[in-house]
Amino acid sequence: MFVDKRCYEIAKQKHNCPHCKEQLSCCHTPPYHVGDGLGWGTELIFICLNDDCSVFKKSWEQFEEQYGHSASCRYMLLPNEEKGGTMMVGSKDAFTGSIVDQDKMSAGNVRYENEKKARAQLDTCVAEKNLEPVIFLLTDEEAHLKSRHRACELLTELNDLACIDPIRAHKFHHTEIEQLSNLAITKILKNHNRMECAYCAELIKAQAKICKHCGKETAKK
Ligand SMILES: [Zn+2]
Ligand SMILES: [Zn+2]
Repeated sequence: MFVDKRCYEIAKQKHNCPHCKEQLSCCHTPPYHVGDGLGWGTELIFICLNDDCSVFKKSWEQFEEQYGHSASCRYMLLPNEEKGGTMMVGSKDAFTGSIVDQDKMSAGNVRYENEKKARAQLDTCVAEKNLEPVIFLLTDEEAHLKSRHRACELLTELNDLACIDPIRAHKFHHTEIEQLSNLAITKILKNHNRMECAYCAELIKAQAKICKHCGKETAKK
């Protein structure tokens, strides 16, 4: 899932409920918006999901008395605003399904930063014989597809046998990238006059009759 930079910044924030002092949960904004029709203007909001919070506890009775239906309010705060408000909730569990894992999101942010760094290195990696950014992008399933395609092309140009192990060890979700990587490996092996032993997967000379690593007879072509 692609989450934009703004969300990461918001997810880093920590806020506490002024009523119960508990830390607010960072949640995805609901698809509906009561009020001006302008929407929330944000993808994430902070909500006090503490069931013992005074706001939540006392509002059940108020709603029952005033409107005769079962609902309550939770304290909520929009990102980058100092003063919060309340949001009506129909049940205890409203919002529990939309809680954002803030730790996970900052981990995603680190991944994204690394991807950006790797992408920036692509232009110079062949000249510098630097395989690292290419392998990073190829084995990062969440990286931009365009960058991964580019990495496949550069793989052949780099012509480095060291790329084989990390690629073989990777479980690809994207079949096209896997196929392109395999194709590049085939070319690189040919350029180096090498093949992979069908039994132990070690690299051996293309003409070898017996693998020097496992001693098995190589498959005849
Ligand atoms: Zn609270
Ligand atoms: Zn072998």
